Amino acid sequence: MTKLAQLQAAVAKQGLDVAYLSDPMTINYLTGFYSDPVERTLALLVFPDQDPFLFAPALEVEAIKESGWTKPVYGYLDHENPYALIAAQVKQRVANPQKWGAELGYLTVARLRGLTDQFPTAHFDVDLTPVIEQMRLIKSADEIAKLDEAGKWADFAFEVGFQAVKAGVSEQAVVAELEYALKKKGIMAMSFDTLVQAGAHAAEPHGATSERKIKENEMVLFDLGTVYQGYISDASRTVAVGKLNAKQQEIYDVCLEAQLKAQAAAKPGITAAELDKVARDVIDQAGYGEYFIHRLGHGMGMSEHEFPSIMEGNDLVLEPGMCFSIEPGIYIPGVAGVRIEDCVHITEDGCQPFTHTSKELRTL
Ligand code: MN
Ligand code: MN
Repeated sequence: MTKLAQLQAAVAKQGLDVAYLSDPMTINYLTGFYSDPVERTLALLVFPDQDPFLFAPALEVEAIKESGWTKPVYGYLDHENPYALIAAQVKQRVANPQKWGAELGYLTVARLRGLTDQFPTAHFDVDLTPVIEQMRLIKSADEIAKLDEAGKWADFAFEVGFQAVKAGVSEQAVVAELEYALKKKGIMAMSFDTLVQAGAHAAEPHGATSERKIKENEMVLFDLGTVYQGYISDASRTVAVGKLNAKQQEIYDVCLEAQLKAQAAAKPGITAAELDKVARDVIDQAGYGEYFIHRLGHGMGMSEHEFPSIMEGNDLVLEPGMCFSIEPGIYIPGVAGVRIEDCVHITEDGCQPFTHTSKELRTL
């Protein structure tokens, strides 16, 4: 059954008259077409027992047809009211739709008003987000093949980035080199802004790449990912420039042990919370628990904000096909930051990473 057919079955099961899907990532997942329409209207309308249709800005219609979408697609011009046009199409299929499902997080007040103006007695209170999240939780073999390919390009980017690291070079210059190399190979998008952080700057896990110059005898943290056919990679490595002191070496070793232990423990049957604890225990016992200030990992696939979340309190039992990051970090303000991250998919008896760059400390 296609993903769209699965969603259609869920719409029927919930007794909905129509589903209005407008998260661009959901539309990509269900149709294979991706575009962020920004303030314009892009929606997928799904019915319990009729063909779905796409509704898009007129300037997207050709791209939608070229993407392989064979069901109806209707475009609108900027001066037209998109909701009036959507309503006309919906009413041809369902005379008086009352029960609507939608991704409530994507229905801004303005968009909801656009719809309720057309359907004043309809109810828009069924949230389909959990249905979509549940579908996206388990990846198919085809999705895993794309994630593998995205991972290979992350490995390539590390190799180019490591070559560019030396004392006196800025963090930004290293990012420029590796992204230029990717673009020359046809990888046009990163999953997120590439992070290269040197020395104490790496102790800010959500800091940005800066013009700071890399110095001798410090660590450099890389966090990067590429997009391949709509699927992402996300991986981190921390490398040494020159000679590390005992403290730097120790936090690297502890972080690596936590990462390797968690990756070895990731298999069907363990819960997300238990897996988080495997890594956290290593860091706690080494005395650095207070410096590991985020969950062990996040789900990933088409985006890096999927389920499962690998954290305390999540008793979800891991199953084959689930994909997530394993990324312990130790961040000591003013001193140094280390993070080591691979994303993996759960297999029948363990897990397989999407990235394979060595995690042994690399000295440049
Ligand atoms: Mn990352
Ligand atoms: Mn990550």
